[in-house]
Amino acid sequence: MSKVYDVIVLGAGPAGLAAGLYAGRARLSVLIIEKGQDGGQIAITDEIENYPGQTVEGESGPSLIARMTQQCEKFGCERVSDTINEVELEGAVKVLKSSKGEYHGKTVIIATGAFARPIGCKGEKEFLGRGVSYCATCDANFFEDFEVFVVGGGDSAVEEAMYLTKFARKVTIIHRRNELRAAKSIQEKAFKNEKLHFMWDTVVEEVGGDGMLSTMTVKNVKTGETTVINADEEDGLMGVFGFIGTIPNTKIFEGTNLKLDERGYIPTDDNMHTNIPGVFAAGDVRVKSLRQVVTAAADGAIATTQAEAYLNSLE
Ligand code: NAP
Repeated sequence: MSKVYDVIVLGAGPAGLAAGLYAGRARLSVLIIEKGQDGGQIAITDEIENYPGQTVEGESGPSLIARMTQQCEKFGCERVSDTINEVELEGAVKVLKSSKGEYHGKTVIIATGAFARPIGCKGEKEFLGRGVSYCATCDANFFEDFEVFVVGGGDSAVEEAMYLTKFARKVTIIHRRNELRAAKSIQEKAFKNEKLHFMWDTVVEEVGGDGMLSTMTVKNVKTGETTVINADEEDGLMGVFGFIGTIPNTKIFEGTNLKLDERGYIPTDDNMHTNIPGVFAAGDVRVKSLRQVVTAAADGAIATTQAEAYLNSLE
């Protein structure tokens, strides 16, 4: 059998990196497995204003994450880039399998996060990357001086819409209700932004175009009236960004004995314990009321201290 780590952390977002930092500092052998780039959703967030201590003007998610990664590695976390596609979580040694091989750990901290929920309209898949996007940081510059629409009314939708006003000529938030869910402080900034407009009580039914997105059908949910919005003739195309919440990255746990709730999130107790001894969950992937960098990092720290207590109980 390959090396058996004290702790395997699955995912290198704020929760996973905090878990790794605490494990490294506790002199536990720790492996962090990440399939993509570090940071999860924060890697595609333009501005972080509410992480305590993050006060450097204009500092972005990626720079915060780069420091977290560096700090983790300084304390001896091992890293591997791999995609886990099968798990065996019960038993004294947990096994995580990929197409490359197997990883073994006495404990596992699941910090796999969540990904963007699709808007759910007709044509969405076809126009993904051709006008439809879920990442303003990645795609905003394609829409320099164009008109773009943002679907959603939460913190993400409003913050990312404000970011898009730095690029687009006009940004319209399409929200299914007539008031935003976003925090009041975020709303105040948004209502002052002259490039930002609002289409209330409205959902997107269909997006279309000839190759690139240039038309969209929206429906007023109160009156039932549908309206076709076409891209400005000179532009020829427009953008639609969806920010309507997230779906947890828990597909690999379906069909295992790890308990998931009806939406796929992992229920834990206050100390990040899942229903399986030695298996913990941290960050956006777990059932919780506030999904932020600060709560994800806190979860990671708690998960590791609990993993350490579990390891001590085995001795
Ligand atoms: P969210 O808070 O769940 O908001 C999702 C928004 O999308 C809501 O306005 C919701 O409408 C709308 N929506 C959901 N399903 C929809 C559908 N099928 N069709 C149309 N609209 C739909 O998600 P989020 O904004 O991504 O935020 C996720 C978490 O991250 C939250 O806890 C948030 O506080 C946090 N976050 C924080 C910050 C920050 O503090 N700076 C930044 C980003 C995210 P309703 O309002 O009608 O339900």
